[in-house]
Amino acid sequence: MVFQSLAEKLQSALDKLKGKGKLTEKDVKAALREVKMALLEADVNFKVVKDFVKKIQERAVGHEVMESLTPGQQVIKIVNDELTQLMGGTQSKLTVASKPPTVVMLVGLQGAGKTTTCGKLARVLEKQGRRPLLVAADIYRPAAIKQLQVLGERLDIPVFSMGDQTNPIDIAKGALSYAESHGRDYLIIDTAGRLHINEELMNELKEIKAAVKPHEILLVVDAMTGQDAVNVAEKFDEALGIDGVILTKLDGDARGGAALSIRAVTGKPIKFVGMGEKLDALEPFHPDRMASRILG
Ligand code: GDP
Repeated sequence: MVFQSLAEKLQSALDKLKGKGKLTEKDVKAALREVKMALLEADVNFKVVKDFVKKIQERAVGHEVMESLTPGQQVIKIVNDELTQLMGGTQSKLTVASKPPTVVMLVGLQGAGKTTTCGKLARVLEKQGRRPLLVAADIYRPAAIKQLQVLGERLDIPVFSMGDQTNPIDIAKGALSYAESHGRDYLIIDTAGRLHINEELMNELKEIKAAVKPHEILLVVDAMTGQDAVNVAEKFDEALGIDGVILTKLDGDARGGAALSIRAVTGKPIKFVGMGEKLDALEPFHPDRMASRILG
């Protein structure tokens, strides 16, 4: 289960408060110490954890009284609210261009799930009645173009490619004119990933950005890499500017460190989460539902 280990620890910390008719400051502090440990073990950013626990403590020890809830339930509600806020509060949707096509550029390191996610995202949009065009602009990874074409065939969604001998900036521009002349209202550009962030990668992405002015630059990161994913997000945002994050492989993430830190550290929302290898396993990210799931 997603975030299982975090969920178990948080629930066990908070369960101790549930039955109590009256809570002392000491009870709350003890529970929050456990909450803090659970979050740190889940690989949530240290500063994020510190601020989070401080906020809850202030609210819980302060005077937030709701007649209908027991003191223990109130603390749990506060934790739930703050977890939701930590993950961005409300769902963050994709921007839609006032004049189509909406240009979405997916960026990320190799292996994060970028190419697969392009296909999944195209499928989500098509289900909403849109007409997406997939764009193969990763000319370096052997088989990346083929992989996207195979995805396109399986999904019955067109793939724009100019092979691996044309530079990605021209491919992106070519795709934009193709979309305009063929009535495709979403462009989903699969860009190159490298094993590490380097200047060459960033420069190419910046050039594509300048050439086609994406409405959305979405960073694809692997949830299972925890704080590394957060660091990658910070670096991409500094160098390129991102509009949001797609967190993949959440289906295998028992800890949740990336999901709980990225928004607070970078200020950028998680827009979608990958929940499996299948092409229908991409879901919009709902902070409130995720918080409730974690707290059981
Ligand atoms: P890229 O190098 O970033 O383009 O990565 P790929 O799209 O080739 O994906 C790398 C691997 O991650 C593939 O085996 C995908 O099936 C897998 N993958 C992608 N997204 C998810 C996900 O949400 N959950 C799981 N379990 N696997 C995923």
